[in-house]
Amino acid sequence: MKFLISTCLLLVAVCAHSTPNKYIALTLDDSPRAASGYFDGPTRANKLIAALKAHDVAQVAFFSVSAHLNQEGITRLNAYSDAGHLIANHTHDHPDFNTLTLAQYIANFEQADRELSQFKTMTKLFRFPYLREGDTVEKRDGMRAALAAKGYRNGYVTVNTYDWFIENQFQKAIKDGVKVDLTRMSHYYVDMMVQSIEAYDELAIKELGRSPKHVLLLHEMDITALFLGDLIAELKRKGWIIISPLTAYEDEIATFQTTEVLPYNPGRIGEIARTNGQTKGLWPRALQESYLDQQFEQQVMQVVAPK
Ligand SMILES: [Zn+2]
Repeated sequence: MKFLISTCLLLVAVCAHSTPNKYIALTLDDSPRAASGYFDGPTRANKLIAALKAHDVAQVAFFSVSAHLNQEGITRLNAYSDAGHLIANHTHDHPDFNTLTLAQYIANFEQADRELSQFKTMTKLFRFPYLREGDTVEKRDGMRAALAAKGYRNGYVTVNTYDWFIENQFQKAIKDGVKVDLTRMSHYYVDMMVQSIEAYDELAIKELGRSPKHVLLLHEMDITALFLGDLIAELKRKGWIIISPLTAYEDEIATFQTTEVLPYNPGRIGEIARTNGQTKGLWPRALQESYLDQQFEQQVMQVVAPK
């Protein structure tokens, strides 16, 4: 009897912990990104700030490119900063590390460091454009040393996404004169982002035995301004808790350094899986262009046939 009771208690305890909270931070790259035609820069910024506030997200990080800093761009980053969001380093003009020398790349990073230091919430986190961290040992280790010398940490992502590809689909449809149904567009966007998040979380649980504090890769774009609120609402509905990037980068995986040279990097979880010998499934389905084209057509563009 005693055994039975303790077994039951154990089961209750296990069940109570079977749906632990999951944590994710939001990061938006390439700010202040040029207007693509739907919103102008200030409108995009206002909508992003309002969406984050409306959904009680106190802090996200804007990984910024200093070559974009014209007067309007400076005003936009100041607006993010004033709203409490972090400004971080994404290089001066977004080069591909695979095509530059180490010295050129370090100069590009340092120029952004100087120019972005004017923003009051500037934080020493660096995100590699295209997530490419060096295609030779010399470049990989040289940039690791350059970051450390300037007091920077790697602003890695755990969830890679193709939101930029979805933005292009949306902007092209608008330019082609299509009256895009924004409700359907939102469902499609949220579906693809959630699929990416769940795929990398599943991979993380397989590799680490736990769900880490995640970092989601998004971009400072019109679809983000339009649908980020819907994405946050859906994540919360699924039990996710939105955290500051500063909290996310306290996770143990922040100290992981791959021993491999990866010219194409799928993000920190993919990197860990790759280092452990897994080569397949590092870019989930929601990052495949053919799948996205098919889903956009099906979920957004197809007119529902009348019954
Ligand atoms: Zn970028």
